[in-house]
Amino acid sequence: MGKVILTGDRPTGRLHVGHYVGSLRRRVELQNSGEYSDIYIMIADAQALTDNAEHPEKVRQNIVEVALDYLSVGMDPEVTTIFIQSMIPELFEMTAYYMNLVTVSRLQRNPTVKNEIQMRNFEASIPVGFFTYPISQAADITAFRANTVPVGEDQMPMIEQTREIVHKFNSVYGEDVLVMPEILLPENDACRRLPGIDGKAKMSKSLNNCIYLADTEKEVQQKVMSMFTDPNHIKITDPGQVEGNTVFTYLDAFCKDEYFEEYLPDYASLEELKDHYRRGGLGDVKIKKFLNKVLQEELGPIRERRAYWESRIPEVYEILKSGSEKAQKVAAETLKSMRTAMKINYF
Ligand code: ATP
Ligand code: MG
Repeated sequence: MGKVILTGDRPTGRLHVGHYVGSLRRRVELQNSGEYSDIYIMIADAQALTDNAEHPEKVRQNIVEVALDYLSVGMDPEVTTIFIQSMIPELFEMTAYYMNLVTVSRLQRNPTVKNEIQMRNFEASIPVGFFTYPISQAADITAFRANTVPVGEDQMPMIEQTREIVHKFNSVYGEDVLVMPEILLPENDACRRLPGIDGKAKMSKSLNNCIYLADTEKEVQQKVMSMFTDPNHIKITDPGQVEGNTVFTYLDAFCKDEYFEEYLPDYASLEELKDHYRRGGLGDVKIKKFLNKVLQEELGPIRERRAYWESRIPEVYEILKSGSEKAQKVAAETLKSMRTAMKINYF
């Protein structure tokens, strides 16, 4: 059997450039590499409902937004199976069996979930579904026999939890029933956890600090010009700090050497630009204008593809429907082999 990818996103809002460098860009590269026999991309509506139970319409509306984002970054529905999580009931049955293999205290140790509980003020009243979503994520990954899960850094504890479940399931019910997945993290720190334009927390749909893939040229420019840099870099001649400087973090994530030739020919590389900033004599407006050019280069083709698909919404729903039908068949086969291994295939 060939190598398989599973990954996905919650339809809680449009996708942003943090998703792009953290996962989407890599998915498209892997898709185009031809090295994977199957690629499954899931719109995790059921997971989104674990902290949006009272807003199903928000989740519903964002399904098509996320699908448009996928198509606009270059995911090819002829190669990649795009599907909706809740259309695969097998995932919920698998989750129920996996729940028996995980303790409450193990779930409580998950640092990403801990952080998300705090962010949502859930301390006093965590929905059980939210608390257990790492287990349902293990079902998503194992149902498709994925070996490779390309995601951002916040997902490390989820993949670790999935690996423990696979290990436990296989040792209790039979070796090689479930496939052991590996995480595939982005190449550098900036991409693993891109900060928001406020420079504080991770860019996140829930925090209102995003540059969206669907933002207009003007919106992107305004957001870049409002970014934080080094608060002690007041006069142009002052030496500046590059580490923790949001503009440079974004350049780390997006800049290619070829952009210097086009937009800043006095520099050969990002390292040279950073050295000048550290020495002093390089103004914030200049680096922001450069970052804006870089982002517009990256986002321009995405915007164009989005416009193409926005005028073909019924086709987008067809893609989701046929993707979900295909994914359901694969999950049903995995569930059958699990039930056989568990000796609960009665008839
Ligand atoms: P929510 O606030 O609803 O959780 P989110 O913005 O965190 O939304 P998710 O749908 O939870 O987005 O994440 C989808 C994927 O994008 C995951 O692989 C995650 O690791 C990655 N990702 C999300 N935000 C970032 C970021 N700022 N930098 C790098 N990767 C990210
Ligand atoms: Mg998230």
